[in-house]
Amino acid sequence: MADTRNDAVLFLCPGCGTAMEWDAAKGKFLCPSCGTETDDTEGDGIVSELPFTPEMLAKARVAVPTDRYVIHCQSCGAEITIDGASTSAKCSYCGSPHVLATKQESGIPPEGILPFAVDKRSAKSIFLNWVGKRFWAPKALKRLYQQQEMNAVYRPYWTYDAQTQSNWRAEGGEVYYVTVGHGKNRHSERRVRWYPIRGNWMRVFDDVQVPADSGQNPIVDKVDDYDMHAVRPYAPAYLSGVSSTRYILQPDAGFETAKEIMHSIILQEVRRNILQKYDEVRMLTATTNFSQVSFKQVLLPIWATGFIYRDRQYGCVINGQTGAIAGNYPKSGLKIGAAIAIGVIVLAGLIWLLGYSGLLG
Ligand SMILES: [Zn+2]
Ligand SMILES: [Zn+2]
Repeated sequence: MADTRNDAVLFLCPGCGTAMEWDAAKGKFLCPSCGTETDDTEGDGIVSELPFTPEMLAKARVAVPTDRYVIHCQSCGAEITIDGASTSAKCSYCGSPHVLATKQESGIPPEGILPFAVDKRSAKSIFLNWVGKRFWAPKALKRLYQQQEMNAVYRPYWTYDAQTQSNWRAEGGEVYYVTVGHGKNRHSERRVRWYPIRGNWMRVFDDVQVPADSGQNPIVDKVDDYDMHAVRPYAPAYLSGVSSTRYILQPDAGFETAKEIMHSIILQEVRRNILQKYDEVRMLTATTNFSQVSFKQVLLPIWATGFIYRDRQYGCVINGQTGAIAGNYPKSGLKIGAAIAIGVIVLAGLIWLLGYSGLLG
């Protein structure tokens, strides 16, 4: 493995040499010292789809660094410890934002990046508004939550394009009514007549996204609806000052998940289509051929915060493009207890009232 100690880079202001920061409100890089703005990212300027070929999959399978290691801060000389998959880090002494471009680009480099459109101040106010509305949260927690830092994170995703051709089979049902019974029991009854049906379904998919980092994050998955039209060509400068990680999931494993997503969309569409002719559908199955498959890696923005409350870990995330928020939090036992007590009192009062007015006896 190459010596990664020297590959950390800083993106410095051409005017004064301070580290540049992405300004989400302006949509540009901004120097916090002298105010110089720039769009220039030194990227290659295009977002390409890669062919889903054995050669490309082999290229993706380079060794993934999993151990922590140390780099030297180029500004102050301090040693910074970096987590296995991390590709950016701030110096804990001088705050300089280092980007490990070589590591991020090892294997299959990111093709696209969706820069933050929600800045830290907006993220914080979205978050405080959300905390304020958590009725069941203990008061102490609201105070604790408000002190947390919001962290900017770029999460790696694989996106897949494919043409699909599906053969489906199902049974379509026609509803009809018959009159049954005699005299007083005479009534109409609902019946379904089933017909075997089959057909083809063609569908082109664009940018079906699958998280490419270490694992499942059900909270992030709730807010990962992004508008991919805003994706820009990747350049390492975007990672400056933002936490980021290299992909861990291989693109062929990701494609298996993408196929399941596409397949379930196909089944929904076929079902809807059948229901234009029939009243009901059952036993719908389809076999799907995937062709013209291409893929790419994109980095998508989230704001994240977390805290530990009574030995349990809780977290909250905000979509860095849309501001959508999701999180979990402990519920106050005291508040729930009070609500139940109030409920019991109200119920007791009602029963007493009803009894008093003679309705219960
Ligand atoms: Zn400057
Ligand atoms: Zn430093």
